[in-house]
Amino acid sequence: MNNLIFLGLAGAGKGTQAKMLSGFLNVPMISSGDLFRFHLGNKTELGIEANKFMSTGALVPDNITINMILKRIQEQDCKEGFILDGFPRTLDQAESLNKSIVGDINTVVYIEVEETELLRRLSDRVICEACNAILSKLNINGMDSNCPECDNPSLSQRQDDLPEVVQNRLKTQIPLINRLVNYYKQKEILISVNGQQNKDIVEFDIQTKLGLH
Ligand code: AMP
Repeated sequence: MNNLIFLGLAGAGKGTQAKMLSGFLNVPMISSGDLFRFHLGNKTELGIEANKFMSTGALVPDNITINMILKRIQEQDCKEGFILDGFPRTLDQAESLNKSIVGDINTVVYIEVEETELLRRLSDRVICEACNAILSKLNINGMDSNCPECDNPSLSQRQDDLPEVVQNRLKTQIPLINRLVNYYKQKEILISVNGQQNKDIVEFDIQTKLGLH
C-alpha cells in the first residue's frame, strides 16, 4: 500500500509533485485545498463555511477538515493507497489520521523552499479552475487566455495568493509545519527534498528517496 503525505509551505510545489507522483503510482491525490475549493464552487454549506477562513489565509477548523479528509480516504479508489497534499496541517489533524484505521502512512515527503522564493512563486501563480493546473504568469498570454493544458477559458489568481494574504498564510504555516516535521521525524517516516530545484529534478529526487528507481 502506498499511503503518502506531502508536506511543504504554500508555493513549495507540493501540489505539483503530489500530482506527478499520483500519476506515477496510479493512486489518487487528495488535496484538502482543492476539496474546499470544489465545495465552494458548488456552494455547499461546507464550502461556504470553509471560505470564511480561507479568504483571510487562516486555517479551516480541524473538525471540518478532519471529517472531510477521513471520509474521502475511505472511498473505494483509495484502497491501494493515496497521496495527501495539504493535510495534515496541525498536530491534531496528524493524530486523527494516525488513529484512523485507513490512515496508516508509509512516508512523508517534505519539500523545503526558502520564504523569499515562496513569496516570489505565489505572486506569479495562476490556476485553472477547470483542470486545477498550476501555472506561471510567465507561461500564459494574460489572464483572459485559455488554459494551456485543457484549453478552457478558466484561468484565475487564487484570492489567497494576493500579497497581503500570502504573508498571513506563511506566518501561520511556518510554526505548524515545523511541528509536523518533528512529529514525523520522530516516527522515522520523513524524507526531505530540496524544492528550490527544477521541478523535474525535484521529482527525480523524490522517486529516488522513495526507492522507486
Ligand atoms: P492550499 O490549497 O493547500 O494552499 O489550501 C488553501 C486553504 O485551504 C488554506 O489556506 C486553508 O485556509 C485551507 N486548508 C487547506 N488544507 C487545510 C488543512 N489541512 N487544515 C486547515 N485548513 C486547510
